[in-house]
Amino acid sequence: MDGMRIGVFGGTFDPPHLAHRILAAEALQQLALDQLVWVLTPDPPHKQGMSILSLEQRLRMVEAVTHEDEEFELSKIEIDRPPPHYALVTVTLLQEQHPDDHIIYLMGGDSLRDLPTWHRPLEFVQTCAEIGVMRRPGDQIDLAELDEILPGLKRKVRIVQAPLLEISATDIRKRILEGRTYRYFLPEAVWQIIQQEGYYLDSTP
Ligand code: ATP
Repeated sequence: MDGMRIGVFGGTFDPPHLAHRILAAEALQQLALDQLVWVLTPDPPHKQGMSILSLEQRLRMVEAVTHEDEEFELSKIEIDRPPPHYALVTVTLLQEQHPDDHIIYLMGGDSLRDLPTWHRPLEFVQTCAEIGVMRRPGDQIDLAELDEILPGLKRKVRIVQAPLLEISATDIRKRILEGRTYRYFLPEAVWQIIQQEGYYLDSTP
């Protein structure tokens, strides 16, 4: 097959944690990706009004993760354009920038389940060459049902085999706030930044 296989991994990454990195690494191998682009979303449409770390702070942490792997790349494609930051627009722009390549969007099972609520979800599915999915505890995916809502989805989904990981950014933020252990849920470099800067010790933005 001609063209590169480019994985696109979008997220709030507040903070980027080990489940993100495991999904990225498994997808890279199992879906035979040539490159994996981490797309940091400045202000996710579904997280409006919630307190998240600043863009600069999250960018620093995602940068630390992407430095660790040769195939990882950090994209500012959403940072560089005004909101709203829809995944459809991101994938369309990336496809325009890489006309001969295949865009494979990566997401957790919870995101797949919520896909019908995304902006123009059918167009999003049609624009992606494939959608790589790592199951998440409690995600309750019914692919047949989702395919009725978004015809053609099932054909595009590639389940990435990985252990179910009960790790979320929400839980890590809560652990830090409550003074519980959290170090080993994170890539070492991210843990170091959080600790040095005292991130998440205060629940107000
Ligand atoms: P939060 O707890 O703040 O909602 P999160 O841990 O879900 O954050 P995001 O940055 O929102 O992290 O996630 C980016 C992508 O990674 C999403 O597609 C999400 O489904 C996926 N993801 C995150 N954690 C996991 C996990 N433990 N297993 C599978 N997929 C995951």
